[in-house]
Order: sequence, then C-alpha cells, then structure tokens
Amino acid sequence: MDIKECYEMLGITKKATDEQVKKAYREKSKQFHPDLHRYDKDATAKFAKVSEAYRLISENREKKHKSIFNFCTIFSDAVSKTNTEKKKETTKSEKPEPEQKGIRGSDVYTTVEITFEESILGCRKEITVQHEEICPCSKEENHTDNCTICNNTGKVLKKFIYDISIPRGIFSGQVLKIKGKGNVGINGGKNGDLVINIQVKQKKGFVRTGQDVVYYMTISFPQAVLGAVINVPTAYGTVNCEIPAGIKPGEQLCLAGYSFKNC
Ligand SMILES: [Zn+2]
Repeated sequence: MDIKECYEMLGITKKATDEQVKKAYREKSKQFHPDLHRYDKDATAKFAKVSEAYRLISENREKKHKSIFNFCTIFSDAVSKTNTEKKKETTKSEKPEPEQKGIRGSDVYTTVEITFEESILGCRKEITVQHEEICPCSKEENHTDNCTICNNTGKVLKKFIYDISIPRGIFSGQVLKIKGKGNVGINGGKNGDLVINIQVKQKKGFVRTGQDVVYYMTISFPQAVLGAVINVPTAYGTVNCEIPAGIKPGEQLCLAGYSFKNC
C-alpha cells in the first residue's frame, strides 16, 4: 500500500489535517471493527488495512513519534518520611546530652538492599551484623587475668541478628540508625550505633520523582487513537488503567487511590 492508497483507504486526501486523519481513522475502524462483523472476513481484512493505512500515514507525517505513544502513571505518595526524620533529629538536638563517662563505642555500618516495591510499601528485614560486645571475663564473677576469649581486651566480636523495620517511602541512600547496637563502649562509655544504609534496587520502566512513582509505558497506535484498558503493574498489584481515545504522546494519566496513604 503506497501513501496515496493509504489516504484513499481512509477516504481522505493528503491535504487533510492531522485531526481529520484521526477522525477518518476512528470512523473507518468503527465501520469495520471485528466485534461488529464477527463472521465477515472481508470486514476484518478491511479493518486491518485501515489500521495499516493510518499507521503509515502517521509515520509519514510524524517521523519522530511514529506509532509510539508514551504515557505515564503517577502514584502520589503521601509519605512524610523525611519530615519524621527531621522531627527526630530536632528532638535529639534539643535535649542536652548527659555527661559522658568512658569512651563511646564506634558505630557499625552495614548496607541493606531492598526492592523498588519494598521502598514504596515499607518492609521488615532480618539483618546479620557483627559488632563488639563485652567479654564475659569483664564480669567480676568470671574475672581472670588471662582470658583466652578476648586476649584481655575485655571485648569480643559477636554475630547479631536484628529484625529491622524499613519505613515506606524510603529513598535509596537514606540511612537508618539503631541506637546502641554498635560496638560496645569502654569504661562505662555508651555503645556506638548501628548505621544501616538502604539501597533501593532499580526497576525497569519505573522512576521515582519526589513522592511520585512515574511509570513509562508504550502503547500501540490503535490503542492510542481508539482508547484501551491497559494493565499497569503497581506495588499494590496489577491495576486496570483506562486510556481515553485520542491520547497524545507524552500525556500523563494519574491513577488515584494507589498512594501510600491508602495501603
Ligand atoms: Zn575476656
């Protein structure tokens, strides 16, 4: 089918505007739609030809965009994680620190990787870390001058398992602190903290922008023109998204009710 035949198929001329092309396509495809002519092979063939003609005309007109339409879905996010964090920090700095005795134990650092969905919904993770603890020989009843466990340092390295709660909406690179779960202090000094660096794995097709999740999706040209119902994967499961007829490239659709507040 050459471009002239394509226009003929839609019953229009090359002079038709983009809007007129779309309108002609909508009318012709309705006329030959397979749902209306279930047993008419001729109509089905014509429907396919109309789609093909429209595709070729559109490609011809808009070489840049071709038949690719993008739309994105925004799941608004009501997480105020950062605010909670800020509040915590302020309360902490307002309180005067009690006078320190001994030497504070050092902090212990670890990294936890979570999925994109887990960052949206929040999750619990069991983590295994090693940090220093007081050796049993430090207790008076166990005291010995020659401890083989700690070589008389008074400290031993031990493995600990912690069940941590990762709040929803956490950003990659954000840090969680568990007070007092770091290395043990010396001479009555405070324990250090356990510092957990959260890394969020990337998910293909999804981008986080602030508190929104943007999902980029490519739909077919007929779907864009006629409208369609498309399955959209979300952290809450697959959701049906209605695409209105005549959607334009780059247009955004917002799926309400999938914010962090509603789960
Ligand atoms: Zn010891």
